[in-house]
Amino acid sequence: MIMNALYLENGQIQLRTDYPEPQPGPGEALIAVTLAGVCSTDLELVKGYLPFTGVLGHEFVGEVTAVGPPENVGQASLLDRANRDVCATDVESVAGTPLAHVDSPENVGQASLLDHANRDVCATDVESVAGTPLAHVDFPQTDSDWLGRRVVGTINLGCGRCPVCLAAGAEHCPQRTVLGIAGKDGVFAQYVTLPVTNLLPVPDDVTDEQAVFTEPLAAALRIREQVAVRPTARTAVVGPGRLGLLIGQVLALGGGQVTMLGRSAASLALPARLGLTTGLTTDFADNSFDFVVEATGNAAGLAQSLRLVRPQGTLVLKSTFAGEASLNLTKLVVAEINVIGSRCGPFAPALRLLARREVDVLASVDGRYPLHQAPAALDHAARPGIRKILIECRDRG
Ligand SMILES: [Zn+2]
Ligand SMILES: [Zn+2]
Repeated sequence: MIMNALYLENGQIQLRTDYPEPQPGPGEALIAVTLAGVCSTDLELVKGYLPFTGVLGHEFVGEVTAVGPPENVGQASLLDRANRDVCATDVESVAGTPLAHVDSPENVGQASLLDHANRDVCATDVESVAGTPLAHVDFPQTDSDWLGRRVVGTINLGCGRCPVCLAAGAEHCPQRTVLGIAGKDGVFAQYVTLPVTNLLPVPDDVTDEQAVFTEPLAAALRIREQVAVRPTARTAVVGPGRLGLLIGQVLALGGGQVTMLGRSAASLALPARLGLTTGLTTDFADNSFDFVVEATGNAAGLAQSLRLVRPQGTLVLKSTFAGEASLNLTKLVVAEINVIGSRCGPFAPALRLLARREVDVLASVDGRYPLHQAPAALDHAARPGIRKILIECRDRG
């Protein structure tokens, strides 16, 4: 079986119409991709941010159409076993007790699931960590229960066995592959495979158009896992683009005042419409903010972000871009700036925010293309001022 896929090789993208359809291995699901989102990381990969060859794309929603044979050893069977255990608190979690511990960083990722499974904790812990997004969503108990389910999926595939995986999860496994980014074909294709342990069911009240934002919204939420953002902190997001706009909304939850900073008035129109404070980056004096998130994707934005953060303030780096940036290290040292790199985040809270309509994602959609026009979709996404471009992968043409 062959399929359409957007393939990257030596910095050249090409729509392939003869790409082999992936086969799900043990513990994996085959997913028919419904919608995929173009992210700045995809554009940077084309520029050579990482030496990736394969099918691009990591933001998606899809439907499970097949599952591979059961896995005999390793993480999937451990999870499976853990998921089959039933305990009293199962009932409570189904009834709707908010699972507060799902947000804790130590609980994120499949390796910590294993850790929990190995410690013989009850299934509720495992399910909640795996990310039952809402109380009324049935979380599949066996691989075959995933068939026909609408899903999103986390993008890091760890070995599940190394000390890093066991302590903190797949995100930093030295042997990991990353969907559409490193060593693993991505989602700008009709089909993709992922381990079922990476999947989360999408609640019925979250549309495909919203669900495709789960991954970048989780990345925005990652900041709140890493740092306590006080609601009274003077907070700025530099770069009101596709990711910056999600970050601004996430940081504003709970009453925070967030200023979205951009280089042009036009770029600030949508953030203002969504109720965020806005301003031109260059209008603000040095050291104006306690907490600054850099989301511009360019070196100039990074320099501005460092300029704006006050002594002993916090600077979060959220951009991935090809090339190197020079930075005034003197301010970092003399002003004792806390610098935090920030990457992938938790999916379950992202799905909850989408279900509760607490973050507006649809307003940032600037275009939709069928899969066979994926090269044009990437061109559109690369234009200045464009936020989210979606690719309709159900296109069987
Ligand atoms: Zn992305
Ligand atoms: Zn590992």
